[in-house]
Amino acid sequence: MNETPNTRDTLANLLTETRQFAPPPDLAANANAKADEYEKADRDRLAFWEEKANRLEWTKKWDRVLDWDNPPFAKWFVGGELNVAYNCVDRHVLAGNGDRVAIHWEGEPGDTRTITYSQMLEQVCRAANALTDMGVRAGDRVAIYLPMIPEAAVAMLACARIGATHSVVFGGFTASALASRIQDADAKVVITSDGGYRRGKPSDLKSIVDEAVTQCDSVEKVVVVQRTGGEVTFGDKDVWWHDVVDNASSEHTPESFDAEHPLYILYTSGTTAKPKGILHTTGGYLTQVAYTHSAVFDLKPESDVYWCGADIGWVTGHSYIVYGPMANGATQVMYEGTPDTPHKGRYWELIQKYGVTILYTAPTAIRTFMKWGDDIPAQFDLSSLRILGSVGEPINPEAWMWYRQHIGGGECPVVDTWWQTETGAIMVSPLPGVTPTVPGSAQKSIPGIEADVVDDEGKSVPNGGGGFIVMREPWPAMLRTVWGDDQRYKDTYWSRFDGMYFAGDGAKRDEDGNIWLLGRVDDVMLVSGHNISTTEVESALVSHPKVAESAVVGATDPVTGQGIVAFTILRGDVEGSDELLAELRNHVSKNLGPIAKPRQIMVVSELPKTRSGKIMRRLLRDVAEHRSLGDVTTLQDSTVMDMIQKGMSS
Ligand code: ATP
Ligand code: MG
Repeated sequence: MNETPNTRDTLANLLTETRQFAPPPDLAANANAKADEYEKADRDRLAFWEEKANRLEWTKKWDRVLDWDNPPFAKWFVGGELNVAYNCVDRHVLAGNGDRVAIHWEGEPGDTRTITYSQMLEQVCRAANALTDMGVRAGDRVAIYLPMIPEAAVAMLACARIGATHSVVFGGFTASALASRIQDADAKVVITSDGGYRRGKPSDLKSIVDEAVTQCDSVEKVVVVQRTGGEVTFGDKDVWWHDVVDNASSEHTPESFDAEHPLYILYTSGTTAKPKGILHTTGGYLTQVAYTHSAVFDLKPESDVYWCGADIGWVTGHSYIVYGPMANGATQVMYEGTPDTPHKGRYWELIQKYGVTILYTAPTAIRTFMKWGDDIPAQFDLSSLRILGSVGEPINPEAWMWYRQHIGGGECPVVDTWWQTETGAIMVSPLPGVTPTVPGSAQKSIPGIEADVVDDEGKSVPNGGGGFIVMREPWPAMLRTVWGDDQRYKDTYWSRFDGMYFAGDGAKRDEDGNIWLLGRVDDVMLVSGHNISTTEVESALVSHPKVAESAVVGATDPVTGQGIVAFTILRGDVEGSDELLAELRNHVSKNLGPIAKPRQIMVVSELPKTRSGKIMRRLLRDVAEHRSLGDVTTLQDSTVMDMIQKGMSS
């Protein structure tokens, strides 16, 4: 592990950005969130969140907005009661919007399903009855291990409806990763499928579940959705979804649950450490995901077609495919497969086909699209788009510009949204109708959130300074604990600074006060006494026209403490040469100063990423320091590391 920087000189601020884009006047005039949102929240933060909670339908009103008497254990909307599924489905049908499409689903092979809110209600009720018939009760845990098919959303909402706590495990994980998550949560039921389609082939999920379940005594039933029609072996715990759900009654009366009833457990993606089981609860969570989805994406449920490209197995899928959008009655696209199947224009083809107006995706995807070339999106009509979102990693200014230009036609605001599994919902982001956007910066706390950038001693840094991003106040969608491990919750998030939530990310504030996220604190490089963020060096490399993507690490260096080693993917058909590498090193030096000049640059064809697409720098650090690799279980493609190690030693 990297030495945590402990010098007084906190994170260096090396990159300057002068481009800025005002909100389109139309959007600004009709925006869901206008500038007065900030004023309202500043006047009375709790009253502000109370107003947002009133977007939802409660069966019992809360007595108290926030109980922070026993920090870091928060309770929001104390005494309030509601049903999450009712709020995401029933109430839209009752309001007369049952015929509105909830999900335009597109299978990777090209098969489609259109599901209205009425049909969603029927499905969720049947699934809730089926789970109840199996003996699942409020408070029990249900593991969900599914591909991106509508049943994933149905299963989550059915659990929420009966008060069962779900634990969704990404469908790409191995049997042992699945088993450890089932064991950790003590799940009674597993919901899975025979498989799903990715990269043109059916995957096999059921046999992975079979293997996992042999190590999990808590599991009483395995419910199997038929997706691929592939062969499966059935044991005495196994039942088909279409037998138990389709035959269950479509009538189900939702019960009310306490605002602090556990809604789900979700494991972090494991970029820096062993995944943590994050616990989210009901009322505060739904309040903040619904509000942010409306304010940050400016969702107009009657006319927008929203599409979030994340997998349901990650928090983005939970908050911005299922709970936020559905609480708002959105119409959305859900896509099963990968962006390059059967061709590299699949995303753009879907946007054209469904008239998508809001797209939410990750920098890793954007950089891949850049690498594939501008000519691919140019073949499609993307003029329906009006807002673009980014989440998951810092977005390099050049990738941001590319996204705005080549996907957004130079007109759509790009909202860079910073948040975490732990925060549950968006925390730092521009508001598209209010904030003049700056490429590469997440910019401002959303209204009602008190993010700050502090130095080593917990003091706010002035404009131009760098340090750590923290939250000064609790927020409605915050994690309540690490499942089964209150101590780890305290140690990880609340012990670094007194009374502040420590997110683990470096950040800086620019001269205009905008917040920039600078990557993980664990990844910060200490070069000749200066703390340099990986993000700034990577962004400088990506700003060179021949570079598509880059990952930078600090490797022990006898002279400077750490030396900067960069792993770089070149664009299109560019060939690596010694001249080009020298040019790239100079390019960084010219942009950020000689202190940030990489000691070494390696050209690679792939970078090690988690299954959620984030770069795993700790593995590259192991390579750069010639160590054996740390935990690789959350790695997307294990052959990538072999390739990089070979290149490094040759
Ligand atoms: P682990 O905590 O197990 O290492 P993880 O942090 O990758 O996993 P997530 O909760 O999915 O798991 O990721 C949250 C992190 O992603 C943030 O802490 C931050 O580092 C990064 N991130 C997310 N959105 C942004 C953004 N807009 N800008 C910069 N970084 C972001
Ligand atoms: Mg994390």
